[in-house]
Parts: sequence; structure tokens; C-alpha cells
Amino acid sequence: MSMADVFVFAGPPGSGKGTQAKLLAPKLKVPHISLGDLLREAVRSRSKVGEIAKNYLDAGKLVPDNVAIDVAEEAVSRKECKNGFVIDGFPRTLEQAVLFDILLGKLKSNLKKVLYIDIPLEEILKRLTGRRSCRKCGAVYHLTYNPPKKDGICDVCGGELYQRHDDTDEVIKVRYEVYKKQTSPLIDYYTKAGNLVYINGAKDVSEVFKEVSKAVAS
Ligand code: ADP
Ligand code: ADP
Repeated sequence: MSMADVFVFAGPPGSGKGTQAKLLAPKLKVPHISLGDLLREAVRSRSKVGEIAKNYLDAGKLVPDNVAIDVAEEAVSRKECKNGFVIDGFPRTLEQAVLFDILLGKLKSNLKKVLYIDIPLEEILKRLTGRRSCRKCGAVYHLTYNPPKKDGICDVCGGELYQRHDDTDEVIKVRYEVYKKQTSPLIDYYTKAGNLVYINGAKDVSEVFKEVSKAVAS
């Protein structure tokens, strides 16, 4: 890896972006940035951004581009990211993608690959309804695919596991529609830019990670 390579995870909600990003970042020894995690943290801490973001997150809609871009810019401009980073959940619109290119130019970072993980809708529903996350450390589990050793307790830190507000059937459907309409045009954008790698996400976590690792090394 050269000095400041950037890897983006894209794909529909529940495709495993966060799971794969959490595996890749330590392997590359760079930070992992999750826009969803940053926005949920902003809501929890009742910051100004959080006050704006809350209703969008609850409804499964995207927060306004200027908010998403500000949050992403602040995160990736930190010195920890100067040797590169892995980001998931950003960009999610064409507008964000264009501004992200400009930002990376300013930071002298190089968008190396966009790892586009795809899974079918029925699998999305199973993944998201069974997802549980740790309140304390953010580790992600699944009731059947990746259960914690003790019910409701994080294996890593002992924190409490919770189900996200937006992981309900109704909100998942909205998020999927939003994805198709606002985010899927990025596939074309990054294909044209020569950055896109298609990853079949409908396999075990370790199998998917093999594909991801191969794509990153190529
Ligand atoms: P995203 O960040 O794309 O929304 P997550 O990484 O949070 O997706 O994964 C969604 C849910 O699916 C989580 O409960 C996670 O444990 C589970 N999961 C992730 N990858 C896989 C996989 N390859 N096979 C089975 N379950 C998975
Ligand atoms: P998932 O893991 O299911 O793909 P995330 O945790 O990445 O979901 O995002 C959760 C919510 O945070 C989204 O439904 C949206 O409201 C908001 N969000 C995350 N990333 C962005 C973004 N790049 N632009 C606008 N809103 C975003």
C-alpha cells in the first residue's frame, strides 16, 4: 500500500460493509470510519449535527448532503487518517461522491478501490432484522449468523447489545428504496472512474473477506 490509500465500502443496507471494513482496517493498520456510527454518536450526544440527523436516521432517509459531507470531512481530515483509511457508508449520493473526490485531492489521498458488496433483498431482510450491536464498543452480531456467546452481551467488551431503531421491516424497506434511488448511481460513477470492484456478499463473512483482501491487493 502506498502512502495514503483510501478504500470505500459501498452496497445496500445490511450487505456487510461495516463487518468487512472492521476486518480490513486493522489488516491495513489504518482507521475505520463509519458514517452511520458517527451520525448515531452525534444523535446520542445531542450535538447540533445530531439534532438535525435524528429524524432522518429514524425514518431511514439520508441526512442532507451538506451534513454528511461535513461529518465525513471532519473525520477523514484527522491526522490518524493521513496514511490512509477505510470508510463505509460514505459517499451515498453522487453529490457526496463528487465532493469526496475534491476532498481527497486536497488531502493528497488516493481513492484506491470502491468495494461494492451486493446481496439479494431477501438476504438483506434476514441480516438486518437479526442484527444486534454493542452500545459500548460498536461490535456487530447477528442472532443466527454470528451470535454472541452470552445472550445480549458483547463478547469483546461485555457491553449491552441492542437492536437499532431503523432495523425494523418498515424502515428497512424505506432504506432499500433510498439506496436504489440515491446510492446505486454510484456504481456507474465509480465503474467509469475505474475504481469499482464487485464483491459477492452472499457468502460467509470469511469467504467475503477473502474476496475483499484479493481486491485490495490487486
Ligand atoms: P452494513 O454495514 O452493510 O449495514 P453489517 O456489516 O452491519 O452491514 O451486517 C449486517 C448484519 O449481517 C449484521 O448482523 C452482521 O453480523 C451480519 N453479516 C455481515 N456479513 C455477513 C455474512 N457474510 N454472512 C452472514 N451475516 C453477515
Ligand atoms: P447500514 O449499515 O444499514 O447501511 P448505516 O449505519 O451506514 O446503515 O447508516 C444509517 C443511517 O445513517 C442511514 O439510513 C442514513 O440515515 C444515515 N447515513 C449514513 N451514511 C450517510 C450518508 N453518507 N449520507 C446521508 N445519510 C447517511
